[in-house]
Amino acid sequence: MIAANWKMYKTPDEAVAFVRAFIPLVAHHSHAEIVLCPSPTLLPTVVDAARNTPAHIAAQTMHWLDQGAYTGETSPLQLKALGVTHVLIGHSERRQYFNETDESVNLKLKSALAHGLVPIVCVGELLAERESGQTAAVLERQTSVALGGIDPAAASPLVIAYEPVWAIGTGRTATPEIADEAHKIIRAQIAKSLSPALAASTRILYGGSVKPDNTASLCALDDIDGALVGGASLDPASFAQIVANSAAK
Ligand code: PEP
Repeated sequence: MIAANWKMYKTPDEAVAFVRAFIPLVAHHSHAEIVLCPSPTLLPTVVDAARNTPAHIAAQTMHWLDQGAYTGETSPLQLKALGVTHVLIGHSERRQYFNETDESVNLKLKSALAHGLVPIVCVGELLAERESGQTAAVLERQTSVALGGIDPAAASPLVIAYEPVWAIGTGRTATPEIADEAHKIIRAQIAKSLSPALAASTRILYGGSVKPDNTASLCALDDIDGALVGGASLDPASFAQIVANSAAK
């Protein structure tokens, strides 16, 4: 899976222009599931523009409840009604700026699975946590709390994105060795929390300053099953090159 996190960028016209330029560039690639994650106001436009193309559309977050008095929030039912099929959960910017917690990530994951949305759950350590030797403990905690109470029989759509916070938007990419080690820690926790079979089949993406020129070395690793891309996904040629280079495996 190669996913584009557009964050709070693009107008509807710019989003349509992206889809029109991007789709022909990836038409001959079938090795990756392509996902575009636009802001909420762009979702109907991008769902329409990407209809009958290989691109799937994800929301960048959602509430876990179907409806209610939650001003500013979007429900899984509303996303499904638009034709959205995937959802990012627990992105570090949501955790850092909007009080997303391991517990709310767990509620959202349960809701996404119950509603048939493909959840992309983001985990990753802060720089201070890495420097103080807490990376494994942080990844194990974030993963185990996210997966708490999840029925293994319903968890096959689960995708996890390992996004070290120090690598997001900084130009500082994790080395393939660092990413590989983290992915193994997350996979081991999935085995404990769900099952060894799900640990083997769950896709774990790497995210954090992925660019066309570092995609192949990351995606070549056995434990890396794709990428979640921020800045370099805003330009259609750059994102298409990332899709192409991810075929390294
Ligand atoms: C992200 O926002 O998920 C991300 C990985 O951003 P960037 O690629 O810009 O580091």
